[in-house]
Amino acid sequence: MRDLSADTDLRYLSLNTGTVRAQDDLLSIMEAAQRHGISVISPWRDQVAAVGLDRVVAAVRDGGFSLSGYCRGGLFPADAAHRDEVRDDNRRAVDEAAALGAPCLVMVVGGLPQFSRPGSTPSTDIALSRAQVADGIAELLDYARAANVPLALEPLHPMMAPERSCLCTLRQALDLCDAIDPERSGGLGIALDVYHVWWDFEVMPQIERMGADRMLAFHVCDWLVPTTSVLSGRGMMGDGIIEIRKLRAAVEALGFDGACEVEVLSDDWWARPLDEVLSVMVERYRTAC
Ligand code: ZN
Repeated sequence: MRDLSADTDLRYLSLNTGTVRAQDDLLSIMEAAQRHGISVISPWRDQVAAVGLDRVVAAVRDGGFSLSGYCRGGLFPADAAHRDEVRDDNRRAVDEAAALGAPCLVMVVGGLPQFSRPGSTPSTDIALSRAQVADGIAELLDYARAANVPLALEPLHPMMAPERSCLCTLRQALDLCDAIDPERSGGLGIALDVYHVWWDFEVMPQIERMGADRMLAFHVCDWLVPTTSVLSGRGMMGDGIIEIRKLRAAVEALGFDGACEVEVLSDDWWARPLDEVLSVMVERYRTAC
């Protein structure tokens, strides 16, 4: 297991830029990251769109940045009138990820159609959503493979099933990988976020089952008690109850040597100065991950 306290160059730390999305635009966030010695980022599509893809591509290149992922594609469940939109939007996400040199596109697959694609005819048929997700991933995979952008399925906490993800556990996500890509031909795997899987009694055996080839991204933050919002109530590592180090040891035992991507989506941390958030994040990366 890597000793992050000795990672003076922050080689394995990635800033998921959603962590400081409220403080500034993406280009300013990247400048701040540089001030703190952070050279790996994982930006969100809306943050890229707000300043322009070309400017971000240039800032990545000129600033010597690399990406640990790109957030995010998915949101597949939709009614028939929105199917083309879903396909085209996901292909654009793949194209953007390729332009940015992202090692994977994180997939938040969607829940019920009226929340995944507003304007869709409302439905409560979550089994249908799961079927649409499987079809959507299978179809996008060919396009993503041609663009050399692996798809990283991110199972989300079941509290988020209606709005964001009918994919709720690592077992379910790996079953989907096996169904779509039984030969393990590459280009399809998992984004494992400790916030979403820490409670799962099967998470350790399922990490073992995953294998290094399907372990594409590792996201960290913490689970506060009590949690007041599953959407924007995440804690900084060390402030909650997740056994981050145990989970990291398990994925590194597979051979995973990618970044520890900090994704603290939090009203509390969004209200603090950008440099303060990054300072605390670097310290906690070294001491609490
Ligand atoms: Zn995540």
